[in-house]
Formats: sequence, C-alpha cells, structure tokens
Amino acid sequence: MASSRDDHPLEYLDTAHGVDQLTDALSGVTELAIDTEGASFHRFVDRIYLLQLSTRDRSAIVDPLPIGKPAGLGHLIEDVKVEKVFHDADYDLRLLRQDYGWQVRNVFDTRIAAQLTGLRAFGLAALLERYFDVKLDKQYQRADWSQRPLTKGMLDYASQDTRWLLELRDRLHDELSQLGRMHWAREEFGRLEAIRWEADDQNMGFLKMKGARDLNRRELAILGQVVAWRDVVAGELDRATFRVMSNETLFSIARQQPRTREALGAIKGMPRGILEHRGGELLEAVERGLAMTDADLPRFPRSPRWERDPDFDDRLMRVKAVRDSTAEKLGLDPGVLCSRDRLETVSRMNPHSLEELLTIPGLRGWQVELLGDDFLRAVAGKVTPTAAAESLEPPATIASGTADQSSKADSEPAPDVAAQTPTADAVPTANDVALSPEPDPKSASGGESDSPYRDA
Ligand SMILES: [Zn+2]
Repeated sequence: MASSRDDHPLEYLDTAHGVDQLTDALSGVTELAIDTEGASFHRFVDRIYLLQLSTRDRSAIVDPLPIGKPAGLGHLIEDVKVEKVFHDADYDLRLLRQDYGWQVRNVFDTRIAAQLTGLRAFGLAALLERYFDVKLDKQYQRADWSQRPLTKGMLDYASQDTRWLLELRDRLHDELSQLGRMHWAREEFGRLEAIRWEADDQNMGFLKMKGARDLNRRELAILGQVVAWRDVVAGELDRATFRVMSNETLFSIARQQPRTREALGAIKGMPRGILEHRGGELLEAVERGLAMTDADLPRFPRSPRWERDPDFDDRLMRVKAVRDSTAEKLGLDPGVLCSRDRLETVSRMNPHSLEELLTIPGLRGWQVELLGDDFLRAVAGKVTPTAAAESLEPPATIASGTADQSSKADSEPAPDVAAQTPTADAVPTANDVALSPEPDPKSASGGESDSPYRDA
C-alpha cells in the first residue's frame, strides 16, 4: 500500500483565517488526531513549530510561525467531548500547555494502548507497518522543523504522523476491549492528562549529566559553572546546547581546569569560534568554580535512607516473581505491567491490605486489581505467585506480538525518578510518565537527558 492517500487531502495552513475556516469545518467532530513538531534537537528553547491534525477524511498542517497561537483550535482541543488521539502524547501535551496554555482532556495515546496490548514494538513506524503495511520514510526523522520553507516532502512526512492515527486508535481500542483492558488504558490516559511538569532545577541540572558522578566536588563545581555558561550562550543563539559545546568538552574543562587561553585551546573538542569570541567568559566560569569555598562545593542529593530491613530483598524477590509470572500469562512486558521501582516500594511498605497498597504513589488501580491480592500474599511470605494469574483470561492471540521478535523482550524500563522520592505526592509528574516511552529524538535535547538513575 502506498503511504499517501489520495482520498485524504492535505491542507497547509499558515494564516489565521485558514485556521478559523478549518476550525469551523471541524466543529462537531468527536475525535481528532494530533501531533506537534518541536525542534529540541536544534534549538535551545523548544516550542511548537508545526501542528498536525487529522480527522477521518482530512489532514491539515498548521504553521504557527506566521500565525502565532492558533486560538480557534483551542476550543476544539480543550473540548472534553472531542477525543484527542496522540502517539506518545507526553511531550505534545507539555508543548501545547507551555506554548498555548491548553489543557488537553480526553486523550487516547496509541503508544500506551499498544504497550497494554502486549506489543513490544510500539513506535509509530512499527505500528503503521504492522497494521497498515505503511512504511514511514526515515529521511526526515531528525528534520529541523524550525526551518522555513518546508519542502513538500517534509510536509508529507509530518502529516503521516496523524494521518493513520484514528484508524490505529480503532484497532487498538478493539484489541484492548477484547482483552478487557480498556479501563487500564483509560486510567493511564487520565494520569497523562493530569501530569504537572516540574520545572527542572536549572542550577543543579548538571548533577544529572552522565559521568557527573565520576567527578570530585571541585570538578563538579567547575562543571556547574561551565554548564551554566553554555546555557546562556545557547539561549542567546537559540541553539541546542550540544551545538554550542559537547558535554565531553565540558567534562574535559572540569577535569583539566584551564586557566589560560592556551590551556583552553588545548582542550580536546574546543570549538575555535568559542575560543576566539568567548574564551574569556569560559575562563571566568572556570575561575568561579575554582574560587568556590570547600563548604559551597556541590554535592549529590542524598538518596532516601530507608530503615535497614533484612527481609526487604526476600519480599522483593517474591513480589517480582508475582509480577513476572502474571506478565507472562498476560503477554505483557513485565515493566509495562508494573515497574521495578513500584515493586520496590511495595516490598518496602510491606502492606497488609489492598487499601494500603492503593496509597502507593504511582501504583495504578488496574495494577492493584490484577496483582494486589498476590502482592499481599507475597509480602506476607505466603507466596503462590500463580494463583491470581491463573484466574485471568488467557491473552488473546493478538497480544502475542509475533511480528516483534526483534524488540527488547526482556528489557525493563529504567527506574524512574519518582522511585527515589518516597515523599512524592499522588500528583503524577513528568518523572512518572505512564509506562515506558521509546527513546525519541524529541527528547534528545542538549544530550543532557541522561538520568542519573539510568545506570543505577
Ligand atoms: Zn511527529
């Protein structure tokens, strides 16, 4: 099947009038596929550079650069009666909120839905190929959507992101309904809508850079200073941070602590332009790090200390056995069924009732429904991990995912930050995003997304 569809014309809208006409034409729709394109791979401050929309019979691309906020669309997108279908909504929701102040309700996320059916290859490209035999052109995967003009090829590519989404939603909705899992998905979608994104602690973000833990505190102090300097430059130029200077080079500066222009020039990977025009600033940043008193040197926040509990490991092993056997019966990735950090919280809390279980931040109602009784037996030491699993319907064949053998079958999502924060309240945060998104170029911003907990 060809990847373009003649029965589904693409409109490119770059005037407010065009957007208003579209909004009028769409009044009365009950479902809308949406995607946004940012440019975090290229820019320092990310924003929406393109907004793609599809209904059952038309697709449109809104160019917000000449228009600004496409206000009329907001009514549609915030309308709780209109189901908004995204693939991997998290980042889109964040950008829509940040740029336009829109709070999107009634979300269907095909990425989450696919994971809950048991599919291990849940990227949009894999799903379109699986369900519609459509192959996405990878050529534009890392395109710079902040550039103008956009070529026809780029626009066609961008529109593929929403063009199939409603049909994909139907397929996944059917499968989840057949499996009796649609209420799992609804719970996940609800959490997604309720996410409040925590502002990154800008000043301490460098502590999360990969490799920061290998530095001593003086080196860390210098790293903090040169990272802050780089953020300023990147902001001035509106360029992604890694395009100003690589993390590796910043780490070399932190270790070698150059105090002269010559020493700075000898640092591996030092960009000539920076050396020439901003070498002085950079040396000042190093000096600030060197001048810091010992007491002021940065340190890593201490991870929460739990009371020593000799039975914790045993409980965790039994709880994990429950999770793993249930996941196998259901044809789910174990990490999708219940993440490792939540197993740890259950083991630590040592709950005695379902009510107690339900107070665990991040643990879902559907997870308690599936695993709760067995978790309680497991922490109590009466382990029969298969009891509840056996009472479950066997997974339908559609969930076996035979086309996805190449995927990371026994991978487990990295423990998320919420796991390190036992005081986290019940409001989900970006660190508590539903399930495990695939790595995405969108989140490659500045190469600093490395979580300190990845290698934990
Ligand atoms: Zn997209």
